[in-house]
Amino acid sequence: MGSENSAPPLIAIVGRPNVGKSTLFNRLVGRRRAIVEPACGVTRDRVYESFFSGRHAFRLVDTGGLIPGSREKIPAAIRAQADKAIAEAQVIFFVVDAKCGVHPDDVEILAAVRRAGKRIFLIVNKVDSPAQETMHAEFHALGISDVFCISAEHGLNIEAMLSLLEKEVAVPAPPVVPREASLCRIAIVGRPN
Ligand code: GDP
Ligand code: MG
Repeated sequence: MGSENSAPPLIAIVGRPNVGKSTLFNRLVGRRRAIVEPACGVTRDRVYESFFSGRHAFRLVDTGGLIPGSREKIPAAIRAQADKAIAEAQVIFFVVDAKCGVHPDDVEILAAVRRAGKRIFLIVNKVDSPAQETMHAEFHALGISDVFCISAEHGLNIEAMLSLLEKEVAVPAPPVVPREASLCRIAIVGRPN
């Protein structure tokens, strides 16, 4: 009980700046905890929160947007934070922007994420209406089988993503042991006196 095995799985939200990582984080935790900005590079530190989906608990960590190859001090620090989040996580939500299509930085970040060997969900964000779903077709070329077209801002299609998470990643709740059965029975035996 309370061992590492029963800790809720950790999901790291990773991707380029401005793809909607913090918006997704806030959508899942149900409040505005991570800062959402139209400007790049606003989320610098890792932000952790728990959330429930169905009867399962998960932990979520938001990371700053990754800019591959940047040697500047702040992007490098953001990258170090994101690397830690990726190392700790069991699942990566790799977020891309449907409106931009596949960006060269997506390819580079994904290669780094793959090296960590974690389970990856490809989240194609900013699919704000069903008509826009065709936009995700090119993302299949990234070679990830679990692709979800969502709108973090409008809360669209989040359920499909969560149900796979529940099915495959959730830690089963420990079995409820009936109170009677959990009591030890002790027999005291011996000669009279
Ligand atoms: P981050 O840098 O990846 O954390 O991105 P943010 O969550 O800060 O969002 C960047 C911008 O994208 C903000 O202006 C958001 O309002 C916008 N955004 C996020 N999700 C969506 C979405 O589902 N649809 C649209 N149209 N815009 C979004
Ligand atoms: Mg952010």
